[in-house]
Amino acid sequence: MTRDEIMALVRTVPDFPDAGILFRDITTLLAHPQGFSACIAQMAQAVSPRTTAIAGIEARGFILGAALAAHLHLGFIPLRKAGKLPVPVIGADYTLEYGQARIEIDPTLLTAGEHVLLVDDLIATGGTAIAAAGLLRAAGAVCEAALFVIDLPDLGGMDRLAEQGVAGKALLE
Ligand code: IMP
Repeated sequence: MTRDEIMALVRTVPDFPDAGILFRDITTLLAHPQGFSACIAQMAQAVSPRTTAIAGIEARGFILGAALAAHLHLGFIPLRKAGKLPVPVIGADYTLEYGQARIEIDPTLLTAGEHVLLVDDLIATGGTAIAAAGLLRAAGAVCEAALFVIDLPDLGGMDRLAEQGVAGKALLE
């Protein structure tokens, strides 16, 4: 399956969550058996052999990151929304276009110095991914790479992420 064929499986929904926003919805890609496996297989080709674990951002980063981790026989580390983990956590607050958000990690899931690849469905302004990379680093990991299905290049997130020392790649633009 080509990248164009995978891209055609992503649904674009106008005016969600607010008027004027074009929401890229990957659920149609996930529901397509060949499309989902082709997406994971192509993402896997972009993963450095130095990677020792995959971290995914709740919620769509869990679906993609967990599938990619299993495909590569790596462990999966969830970066959860606030208040969900049942153990002591460290967290990072960040600003979204409308309002504030917080993600948290159980730092005992990581070994100091291990190379963790960050995964999410989409990068827009980069704020979420920058917070996630900072949190992984605060937990003792090396986070130098991030992988997304979709990049919205006009919003500049990949460049902002690169300024933080994280090389981002996306399957689709
Ligand atoms: P950023 O922090 O501005 O880069 O926004 C990226 C975060 O918002 C990711 O966690 C995405 O899942 C989510 N997001 C932003 N826009 C969209 C979209 O059009 N479709 C799906 N997720 C989106």
